[in-house]
Amino acid sequence: MKKRTRKSIVLFAIVFAIILAAGAFIQFVPIGYCMSIRFRNFTEPEHNLFINNSYSYVAVNESGGFITKDDIPVIVDEAKSRVAGLFGGELLSNPVIIISDDESTFNKTGEAITWTIALHKVFNFISISNNRLSVNIMAHEITHAELAYRVLIGKPFRTIDSFLPIWFNEGLSLIPDDRVMFDRETWEKRTDNGAKIDIDVTKLTRADFQGDNGFITQEYALFARNEVLSWLNESREDSIMRLIDSVRTGKDFQEIYSLGI
Ligand SMILES: [Zn+2]
Repeated sequence: MKKRTRKSIVLFAIVFAIILAAGAFIQFVPIGYCMSIRFRNFTEPEHNLFINNSYSYVAVNESGGFITKDDIPVIVDEAKSRVAGLFGGELLSNPVIIISDDESTFNKTGEAITWTIALHKVFNFISISNNRLSVNIMAHEITHAELAYRVLIGKPFRTIDSFLPIWFNEGLSLIPDDRVMFDRETWEKRTDNGAKIDIDVTKLTRADFQGDNGFITQEYALFARNEVLSWLNESREDSIMRLIDSVRTGKDFQEIYSLGI
């Protein structure tokens, strides 16, 4: 075989392998699938909000009304304004939000989850299925995205877990979630007004929070939320931003947190 022919075959094999790998990445890796959402059967009614074209799910809200595809931007806006309140009134992250009632999509991307990757920029993708669509869950995921953005910007290839413990990340993300099962009154009943704190949130791992079905473990979430809520109530108004600045400069989270800055 001629040298030039052999070279061409090798080059062809390399290009073919790259195309195959890229195809597998966007089809089978959740974040790859999310990254290619613009090229799929989705509409973008608002910048960075994607809803599958065939979305037809109608949910009944708490007051007996209906939630249709047209209501989704309103849910997103309400969730964003709740989360902005936590971060000094401004959101910087602008995550890509993907809403789908198509099982084949959310089986790949997740039913209520935020995927983050820190490169030259921080990319956040929030995937929520019709079964999980609510202002509370949307606000929860937007908080994860905003926190990840603020901590990881300018820190390529790092993960949020290397700066902040998962219990703080989950606890903070549950602050704009006003469901009764996570609120102060439920926590007071469960802990006998704080006298019986039998779960040490600081020992909880990501796997503990994920539980058996992949959704947040209710009891751990209740404890994490109320731990962070107590801290926020005792700290200064800008304590979240000060905490983020400190961990970004390499200071130890636990040290800063216990100072109650
Ligand atoms: Zn979460």
